[in-house]
Amino acid sequence: MKRREFLKAVHKMLIAVGGIQFFTFEELEALEFGDIKKPDIIWLHAMSCDGCSTSFLNAEISILDILTTFTNIIFHPTLMAATGEEALEIIEKYNGNNLMLVTEGAIPLDLPHACLMGEKFISDWIEFVGKKAKIAVSAGTCATFNGICGMKDMYTEASSLRYFLQEEKKLDIPVVNLPGCPMKPHHFLYTLFFYIKHNTIPPLDNTNRPLRFFGNTIHDRCIYYHDYQENIFAKKIGDRGCLFKLGCQGPVTKSDCVKSLYSYDKYNCIKSGHPCVGCASENFPRTIMFKRSDDKRAIKKYKNFKRI
Ligand code: SF4
Ligand code: SF4
Repeated sequence: MKRREFLKAVHKMLIAVGGIQFFTFEELEALEFGDIKKPDIIWLHAMSCDGCSTSFLNAEISILDILTTFTNIIFHPTLMAATGEEALEIIEKYNGNNLMLVTEGAIPLDLPHACLMGEKFISDWIEFVGKKAKIAVSAGTCATFNGICGMKDMYTEASSLRYFLQEEKKLDIPVVNLPGCPMKPHHFLYTLFFYIKHNTIPPLDNTNRPLRFFGNTIHDRCIYYHDYQENIFAKKIGDRGCLFKLGCQGPVTKSDCVKSLYSYDKYNCIKSGHPCVGCASENFPRTIMFKRSDDKRAIKKYKNFKRI
């Protein structure tokens, strides 16, 4: 893609996620040429499957190009060329003052050696970087709500990034939660460009999620909402109609999944004919994934979600 086409595509995407006055084309060019200060990013992987990074790389426009054009990406374990001691030294020697810490995965509090980077616990690295960062971003549901790492009977006492930095380490650092299994690339880009433009975090809800994306339930804007109202329900996967009777969690899950899609901006669960499993919610994963949405037991929270 030629430079101007790339800038236009990024600008179009920013308009789609943030509104027309969010970031002008001229500002985008100024950022590219360094006339607007680029943020530094250190991206760490705690207990995770790396799915958020993988999904991120499959976004509509090359995220790698976006990160390398509009930010100084200091550390990302799966994108960087440096390895071993050389890579870890980059973090140790970092002394900038415009740093965004991004963490993917949950942090093992009671079993810190469950997740190491080099010979140090990932929790020590996150604390080390958290002390230097201006804002922190939880990439995905594991970093936000413990996710799969925080399931009942897991022994690591998984912690979210927010709990770890603010409650455990008492650091005064704003944390933006971007849940989703995996995180939506658009959510991250909005947060990144909001920070570049306003030098702060976007407006959040009571669980630190950007209101722009997490203010409404999926159900409210679903492509099958009309079918739901007309009592047209799918009886099995592949049938036409609302997926409510197959256990769809859209009515109790807040996210903009219907608008912001995965896989080169083409698909989401419901559009592919699968009921929402509520991956962006604090209830994910549930013991029984496809209980009907109107079954109160199915939407009851796990008691062990205390470190979110
Ligand atoms: S498919 Fe799910 S989110 Fe969509 S209308 Fe039906 S219950 Fe609601
Ligand atoms: S539709 Fe539901 S399961 Fe699918 S990505 Fe959105 S929140 Fe997750």
